[in-house]
Amino acid sequence: GGINFDAYEDIPVETSGSEVPPPVSSFFQLDLGSDLDTNIKRCGYKNPTPVQKHAIPVIMSGRDLMACAQTGSGKTAAFCLPIIAGILKGRNGFSEPRGPRGSGSRVATPVALIMCPTRELAGQIHDEANKFANRTRVRIAVAYGGVPIYQQLRCLERGVDILVATPGRLVDLIDRAKVSLQKVQYLTLDEADRMLDMGFEPTIRRIIEQTGMPSSPVRQTMLFSATFPSEIQRLAADFLSNYVYLTVGKVGS
Ligand code: ADP
Ligand code: MG
Repeated sequence: GGINFDAYEDIPVETSGSEVPPPVSSFFQLDLGSDLDTNIKRCGYKNPTPVQKHAIPVIMSGRDLMACAQTGSGKTAAFCLPIIAGILKGRNGFSEPRGPRGSGSRVATPVALIMCPTRELAGQIHDEANKFANRTRVRIAVAYGGVPIYQQLRCLERGVDILVATPGRLVDLIDRAKVSLQKVQYLTLDEADRMLDMGFEPTIRRIIEQTGMPSSPVRQTMLFSATFPSEIQRLAADFLSNYVYLTVGKVGS
């Protein structure tokens, strides 16, 4: 609300990396699939924002991405749409929890993990992702601290394709053997700079190291941040490969 997206047309966009997939000017050029096309219309989104125009084709092409853009630029849809499209196209399949139903010993094995710094943000990402996944088979769960864990556990038991989580609660779930990250194909860090400011860097590194198995297909990693300080540059160097760097507007470091 209240955001003048037309004004964004004047905002400079810079990309670097080898063979960067070209931006699109419309959501419907993207081949996201008819379910997502319908849900985008239902959300009232008419045109993609600059970060969406550039980031969505990059993610859909399977490339890693480091994207810097200010708050309010539409980063949530920039990563949610291509992840949901990829899951629906069955590129990485749906994920079933391991262990017998109702046994209390099921382990959720999401194919996508979205990490973010706060409970509020996790709730917002969960809501937005659910709107895009409306009437599809894609199941989204959210996990954050400061609330009892039981409801989150029940939701994970039912099976989850996309898990939106804050780092502290995620470690708790992994330690309780309720979540395994071995099937994670899409890893997104949202507001990476804020997570580092909050002291989550060691936790995040520990979590990322638990994604994937030696035999599984290569993980696709997307880092989103408002700023690009040296700590984020190091994180990108350590966990992204052959990535596209995208910056929208003036970005501080
Ligand atoms: P950021 O994560 O970059 O701060 P958000 O993803 O939270 O930005 O988006 C900011 C607001 O803009 C949200 O209310 C979102 O629903 C809305 N929005 C995002 N993309 C579009 C679009 N293409 N058209 C219309 N509204 C959009
Ligand atoms: Mg955001």
